[in-house]
Amino acid sequence: MVDAVIVREGLFDDAEGGRLLGNKCASCGKVYFPKASFCFSCFGTNVEEVALSKRGKLYSYTIGRMPSTHFQPPYAVGLVDLPEGVRVFAPLKLTEADTFRIGMDMAVVIEELWQEDGKLIIGYKFKPA
Ligand SMILES: [Zn+2]
Repeated sequence: MVDAVIVREGLFDDAEGGRLLGNKCASCGKVYFPKASFCFSCFGTNVEEVALSKRGKLYSYTIGRMPSTHFQPPYAVGLVDLPEGVRVFAPLKLTEADTFRIGMDMAVVIEELWQEDGKLIIGYKFKPA
């Protein structure tokens, strides 16, 4: 059995099959992911944690064809717009060859990102919904 560790605490939880955790400004309603310690829009400091929508729309993506620190090619990364007005940069789950289309519906998944020192590093990705 291989240990699994979360890539960074507080980014997501496993509720409802996995969802990202951002925060929301109590003054102006602006939502942030990852969480912000204060609101960059109105400089309010009263920000509260919110679970973000599990689905969004693919704004842009690219397919990596060179090895990177953690990902072997081909791998995909992209920007997904959530209904809360947040644009999330994330790895995309590559299923069949290059099946992504700008504007398509995407859903968050929590799963292994890479392995390191015998541990599974668990994080979030998006996949076509
Ligand atoms: Zn604000």
